[in-house]
Amino acid sequence: QNTTQMTGKYTYREIDESSIYSELEDIFIISPQRLREICKVFVKEMEDGLKSDNCTLKMIPSFVTNRPTGKEVGTYLALDLGGTNFRVCEINLEGQSKVRLRAKKFTIPDSAKTADQTVLFDFLAESIAIFIKEYNINTESDINLGFTFSFPVQQTALNKGTILLWNKGFNCANSIGKDVVNLLSEALARKQLKVNVVALVNDTVGTLMSHAYVDPGTCVGVILGTGTNAAYVETIDAIPKWTGGPVKSNEMIINSEWGAFDNERKVLPWTKYDEQQDAAGTNPGKQTFEKMISGMYLGEIVRLVCKDLIDRKILFGGMSSTEMDTPGKFETAYMSRIERDHTAELTDTKMVLQEILKIPYVAPRDRRIVRRICELVAIRAARLAACGVAAVVTKMNRVDSGCTVAIDGSVYEHYPHFDSRMRDALHELFGMFSENVSLQLGKDGSGIGAAVIAALADK
Ligand code: BGC
Ligand code: MG
Repeated sequence: QNTTQMTGKYTYREIDESSIYSELEDIFIISPQRLREICKVFVKEMEDGLKSDNCTLKMIPSFVTNRPTGKEVGTYLALDLGGTNFRVCEINLEGQSKVRLRAKKFTIPDSAKTADQTVLFDFLAESIAIFIKEYNINTESDINLGFTFSFPVQQTALNKGTILLWNKGFNCANSIGKDVVNLLSEALARKQLKVNVVALVNDTVGTLMSHAYVDPGTCVGVILGTGTNAAYVETIDAIPKWTGGPVKSNEMIINSEWGAFDNERKVLPWTKYDEQQDAAGTNPGKQTFEKMISGMYLGEIVRLVCKDLIDRKILFGGMSSTEMDTPGKFETAYMSRIERDHTAELTDTKMVLQEILKIPYVAPRDRRIVRRICELVAIRAARLAACGVAAVVTKMNRVDSGCTVAIDGSVYEHYPHFDSRMRDALHELFGMFSENVSLQLGKDGSGIGAAVIAALADK
């Protein structure tokens, strides 16, 4: 059936386009039935994690036991580390659910991400020093800072916690098992900065808290960005492993660290492309769920699928490029661009592939195939993310009564159709009850939430 055509150097096996699509759809489309299975296992894993520390889902008590009323006031600094941008912020809580934010982005040199921890923490302290100077921050009476640190941390107090694992391209020597707040405080002291680190906050907890400052019905915070994770409000009685004694509110915000879900690969539709990407990364075998969902990884999966089709001479006439052959060069942002390309000839898609990724010739059919790959990888991600949300809402017993889920992160905010694809999956799972789950963009949540938590700690 398959014939080989020659057009200059552009040689490809003429395979019916629809058979390529069905091959890809078979491995990337998740059926409603499979969604339900995943969701069921997810809830079970959450329950296990609340019982003991040695489980796949870490279900970490955040030591945040009160939600804000919206009346909290004060000026705080926040440090937001672990996403696409590293930011220092000054946050003014004005009461009446109003917030003013001034922030400055810094770029962390790649070298600091993988060097000794002192290099990274000195860089953080230096950035705070620059911010204080540029924004004329008054540090006469020591100012309080909330540290949003978006990596798995075993929290032992509101302002204490040891780092369990680096991810998202970070990997600092001499830091595992060390107290993150100490590391930052020491670096601040080296620079003689009068700043108190009063809270150590995961970005999901921050997102939940900052949204709760404006909408008290918020009980879940999700990040769908460079990485992915969720935090939610749990009752103390449902946390058998909690040994911290009684809690007045009888509530505890739990950082689920759901990125690690199914590291055993029992239920997720893991493909050979996921396997290749995992094996080549900095933490193979870890963060399985995250690697199928978040911005750090989606583009790379698309690149690996393209590579496979190039090797099989199905795509680009079998011609690749140095860029296409280099891990990380196919950014998730290009997928967004390609999915936004509504031109008849897919001219922008052609531009990305030819100008940025330097593929010598991209036929119209190639553009359609790449676009379909992007769609399939992104739809899978959105459906899995929805599955996580559904599991959390089920665990909280909120399918009937409903709740607000605050979501932040570059993928949720900017990736086309991500939100509606999640909603479709929620509908497949919950039917008409899916309307009770309100997904809301929680912008700037990680920084503002750290301030809200610092304010609550002040009281
Ligand atoms: C980290 C989480 C974080 C999430 C979103 C994950 O890689 O383990 O702690 O909340 O990314 O930033
Ligand atoms: Mg962030």
